[in-house]
Amino acid sequence: MHEVRGSTPLVPTSFASARLQRNCPESPALDRSDEGHNKESTMETVNLGEQIKMLVELQGLDTQIFKLEDELVAIPEEIKKEEDRFKEETAHLKKLEDGVKTLQVRRKEREGDLKAKEDSIKKLQTQLYQLKTNKEYSAMQEEIGRVKADNSLIEEDIIKVLDEIDAENKKIADEKCRLKTEEVKLSDNKKRLDEQAKRVTKDLEELRKQREALAGKVDKTVLAKYEKVIQGKDGLAVVRIAQESCQGCFRILPPQVINEVRQKKDLIFCENCSRILYIEE
Ligand SMILES: [Zn+2]
Repeated sequence: MHEVRGSTPLVPTSFASARLQRNCPESPALDRSDEGHNKESTMETVNLGEQIKMLVELQGLDTQIFKLEDELVAIPEEIKKEEDRFKEETAHLKKLEDGVKTLQVRRKEREGDLKAKEDSIKKLQTQLYQLKTNKEYSAMQEEIGRVKADNSLIEEDIIKVLDEIDAENKKIADEKCRLKTEEVKLSDNKKRLDEQAKRVTKDLEELRKQREALAGKVDKTVLAKYEKVIQGKDGLAVVRIAQESCQGCFRILPPQVINEVRQKKDLIFCENCSRILYIEE
């Protein structure tokens, strides 16, 4: 859509669809016999200068209307995007909390292992005094030594798990604090966007009223041509001529076309983009 750029009003690409959604009266069928020419020749009875002035004004209103309609569509989408992001962050927090639960289970398991080993050491130590030979005695002591060594490893493991739990809990506390702030921000944003939507709706109502009043003054045939062009041309139907080029598509216009526009005897269309041309005075 490079052609709607530059000194003409900027028109988002979704204008055409927004335009089509508008409940506008059926445009009368256009005379297609002279299609291919850039000149319409049934305008003798109307003051074309006046009509074009009104079309320029109508285009100004339509451009504002399309912009606000797009804004109105974008607002609930923005709210949803922010809500989705918050939901994702909440899910992430839940994942962190589940991770700590898993670590706690592991800690309990290891503490159970440690307790079992300590019990077995106590049992071995009781048996130690019932042994009869030195050989049996030192074998038992070796056995006790092995279990104690195992216990040291388990204790190290428990300390590691406890450190991990501490670190994760700190992350969770930070995340909870951050999410609380985010929740307030989200609620403020929603309020702001709701108010914006109300404002835009009100402005739209006002603009649509103005548009209706103005469109009522435009000659029916002229209006029908305007409506047809605006639907096919992304919401931009009337474009001025500047530096001898159409400001809709930026193509240089032949001097004869510029002359015809100046004469204001007919509606003159750009040969390239089919938009209605006018010259600012
Ligand atoms: Zn053009």
